Amino acid sequence: MSGNWDSSLPAPLSALLEALGYAPSDAVIRESTVPALRGTNVVLLSPPSARYAIPAMAGLLGSAGPESRVLVLVPAFGIKLTPKHYAYLKISEGCNHRCTFCIIPSMRGDLVSRPVGDVLKEAKALFEGGVKELLVISQDTSAYGVDTKYRTGFWDGKPVKTRMLELVRTLGEIAEPHGAWVRLHYVYPYPSVDEIIPLMAEGRVLPYLDVPLQHSHPDVLRRMKRPASGERNLERIARWREMCPQLVIRSTFIAGFPGETERDFEATMRLIEDVGFDQSFSFLYSRRPGTPAASLPDEVEHETKQRRLERLQERINREARAISARMVGRVERVLVERPSKRNARQLAGRTENNRWVNFDGPASLIDAFADVVITEAMPNSLRGRWLAPAPRPA
Ligand code: SF4
Repeated sequence: MSGNWDSSLPAPLSALLEALGYAPSDAVIRESTVPALRGTNVVLLSPPSARYAIPAMAGLLGSAGPESRVLVLVPAFGIKLTPKHYAYLKISEGCNHRCTFCIIPSMRGDLVSRPVGDVLKEAKALFEGGVKELLVISQDTSAYGVDTKYRTGFWDGKPVKTRMLELVRTLGEIAEPHGAWVRLHYVYPYPSVDEIIPLMAEGRVLPYLDVPLQHSHPDVLRRMKRPASGERNLERIARWREMCPQLVIRSTFIAGFPGETERDFEATMRLIEDVGFDQSFSFLYSRRPGTPAASLPDEVEHETKQRRLERLQERINREARAISARMVGRVERVLVERPSKRNARQLAGRTENNRWVNFDGPASLIDAFADVVITEAMPNSLRGRWLAPAPRPA
């Protein structure tokens, strides 16, 4: 439920929805069945738009003035579907790219960036609501604001551009008093991303990037019509690492795209080894009806695809295990999420580079940060010892 709307408001619901950028089909209106709210309409917004619409809707309804009979039943940070300590922040919908294997552009259309002021307002409300980790998501985070020509919006009374650099810098500023993490997903290796890396080196946002490359060979990337396929990705990533040695890069890869030869596939294998991607995913290509790639010739045989996928995942896992092994002995800041699944007397949390760590500690640490020294690297997780803060002198 997104909130309650009193039909005595002068503006019809359709106008409110339109102001928020939603079509009438996004909403369902029901008369409230709660006795105390009889005669009040309840507005339900359909996912995925619902989650980020809620704060905006609540704010708009709440601004109708004290004399109105508006009732807003949602907390300022909206209704979260995730646990208390983390939340997703969606900054745009749709995508301007036309990757040949992807159905999203035909389903969601071109990129539409949310106004920067709304995004930052939602982030602040989430941090104030107890969120310790904000995951910034979109189809292409690096393209944020392209559709608005980087329009200037306002935040906290000051102008701020609808652009990735300004967004990330301001998110870091808003997160700082809460000691919270900001994690960026779905970033393409464009030159403009170079500007973000210093913010990571300075610790303003997590030194972590999810860069979905899918492949390395230029012929395959051309057939895939991938963003940044003409860029010198390896050189760019090497430069990022010079600027921020602790940078963690995760990616996704596809094995067996139509026409992929052994030579093409080996290029991806080499890239994974050269970059040292962390905890990446790999997928076996399968034709998706309605996508341009579905009609490409030279389908790769299933057994070949399967064999390449296994090699790909084994290489990815090897890189991830090597990174885990290098973490042993280091003190890591861990966001404690829950009791451990294997041993309910232990706690489980995630490190900055998104690895699970199990360790002994009091349940009061759940939803908070803890400093943990890594004692052992397991295939899929780490073990650690909590560094309890020294007791205060009496
Ligand atoms: S960038 Fe991502 S969402 Fe956009 S078309 Fe390519 S795969 Fe699809």
